[in-house]
Amino acid sequence: MPVSGLGPYDEQNIFARILRGEIPCRKVFEDEFALAFHDIAPQAPVHVLVIPKGPFVSFADFSAQADTAMIAGFFRAVGTVARQLGLEVEGYRLLANMGKLSGQEVPHFHVHLFAGKPLGRMLVAPAAGE
Ligand code: 5GP
Repeated sequence: MPVSGLGPYDEQNIFARILRGEIPCRKVFEDEFALAFHDIAPQAPVHVLVIPKGPFVSFADFSAQADTAMIAGFFRAVGTVARQLGLEVEGYRLLANMGKLSGQEVPHFHVHLFAGKPLGRMLVAPAAGE
């Protein structure tokens, strides 16, 4: 069942189009389970997105619906990306927004990988009025 206002999977969402090669991306890694590419609006010196190769709207959808091989393969790919980018010595942060309150914008499950500077506290306070 769709959750948190995201609706059913939209085959025209931007990451589906990137997966199909209809929109370019700065690819950093690809295997049978996942594609990783640089975020178009980086919020840290390293800001990479890792997305599964399947029609999953969100983490909630992915964790409930993806088969075990996909879940394992996807999360192994996230670790491989971090290792291949040389991030393990200094460290990095993983983040996945899920649904309305998190501010998830793209309705295709993705993990953000941030690194390259001290990343501060975990949550940034919302702007006044939010
Ligand atoms: P969310 O808010 O859904 O967790 O994160 C979506 C992310 O996708 C944002 O950080 C945004 O900058 C990134 N993004 C949106 N459109 C594109 C695009 O066309 N290409 C790339 N590489 N990143 C995108």
